[in-house]
Amino acid sequence: MISTQESIVSINPATGEELGRVPIYSAPDVSDAVHRVRVAQPAWNNLSFRERGKVIMRARRIILDEIDEIAQLISRETGKPIPEAISMEITPALDLMQYFARQAAKFLKSQKINLGMFKLLGRTSRIVYKPYGVIGIISPWNFPWSVPIGGVVMALMAGNGVVLKPSELTPLTGLKIGDVLLRGGLPHDLVQVVTGDGSTGAALIEAGTDKICFTGSVETGKRIAQTAARTLTPVLLELGGKDPMIVLEDSNLEAAARGAVWGAFANSGQACASVERCYVHESIAEFFINRVVELTGGLKQGNGCEDSVDIGAMSSERQLKIVEEHVQDAVSNGARILIGGTRLLESAQPGGLFFAPTVLSGVNHTMKIMREETFGPVLPVMTFRHESEAIEWANKSTFGLTASVWTCDLKRGRRIAEKLEAGTVTVNEVLYTHAIPQTPWGGVKQSGQGRTHGRLGLLELVLPQHVH
Ligand code: NAD
Repeated sequence: MISTQESIVSINPATGEELGRVPIYSAPDVSDAVHRVRVAQPAWNNLSFRERGKVIMRARRIILDEIDEIAQLISRETGKPIPEAISMEITPALDLMQYFARQAAKFLKSQKINLGMFKLLGRTSRIVYKPYGVIGIISPWNFPWSVPIGGVVMALMAGNGVVLKPSELTPLTGLKIGDVLLRGGLPHDLVQVVTGDGSTGAALIEAGTDKICFTGSVETGKRIAQTAARTLTPVLLELGGKDPMIVLEDSNLEAAARGAVWGAFANSGQACASVERCYVHESIAEFFINRVVELTGGLKQGNGCEDSVDIGAMSSERQLKIVEEHVQDAVSNGARILIGGTRLLESAQPGGLFFAPTVLSGVNHTMKIMREETFGPVLPVMTFRHESEAIEWANKSTFGLTASVWTCDLKRGRRIAEKLEAGTVTVNEVLYTHAIPQTPWGGVKQSGQGRTHGRLGLLELVLPQHVH
């Protein structure tokens, strides 16, 4: 039983409709949840990888059976179109569950080390990988299914228990994750979902977990790192981005224009890896920008639960205001709005939070729109003359999550990719690589520290022990 009487209300940002109420877990409630997980975890760790994998695969089956209902829930809590909920959240999570259910044993098998001259003295060494114990996962609202479920599944496969604190904007989706895992056969107390706002998240940092995996803004990430430093609790930080897209003169312009539109406007631009800045070579800029504006004009915006909607609502008034502020700042400093530029009127979408997909030209690096994370459906485009200029500008940022290069010369693309300061660089692709469970995900500079996904991500959830 939790002690609190306070609750938060989950709202559909496309309509303003109330979806449900959940309690705000207080600090004692959170401590109690951590304690219950700590008691349940050793028995789970004693199971084989195969047995743990079976539970994950059963939960996966339940998700498949209930995919429409889950997609509806995600769409209603975030405002994103149902096809986006399925393709960008549920399907990648299904893939991840299968991957780690099958591969964790191989990745975490104990390793014999060749000791060179010490071998001659008859010594042997092994590295064994032990779970941390209790992992605290704090997640954002923009991918309320795929981000937390990925972390939870990886932590479980490594033998940990988890306390999950979902975003206050998407608590029902967070609770659904706990629900499907439980019905898949997970031991009762092993995963606890503690709903609440920042105060619940802050309580989790202080509640004595063995590691915190945080996904969210740079500001909150820094605050968490400071608090965690007091007890030297390790933290994995997956933070924001200001991801550049470089379109070279030898690129496939139709593919690049479509990539820019999808990369900037999918999820209403509210992805950490959204295209937030576009640098296009001056020789092709006019054609490219015209095509981007034309494609943007063809997008249908509306309630994500309705048919054939391309771009949904924004998740919160707070986020919408940031987008408005960035666009106003850019325009008052000389930027031109080529399409969009404003929120949709109440009469167009009653009760909904919508910002029209927007393309800006005439931008520069003094503007917020080119420096700070906008996290909305805005694509500012700048032109460059030389490749070196584009690389310099792309790197001129405190962020470093993802970046992309567009060119038909793949050798050139790879060469430039390695010069870009980002955790992931794609050549002729944008945005989607968080969906790949096999490859590491994470940022450099203020976009975060540590990696999730892939073998490197799994190793973040275990303690290597040397047995000599
Ligand atoms: P946020 O930092 O406001 O909140 C994230 C989570 O932290 C929420 O659950 C919130 O309740 C909790 N929180 C707030 N204050 C806290 C505190 N003091 N201590 C502990 N927890 C606290 O971020 P948001 O607005 O929910 O999400 C958007 C941000 O997330 C963007 O910056 C985006 O780029 C980033 N993001 C990053 C990735 C990635 O993989 N790098 C993925 C998705 C989103």
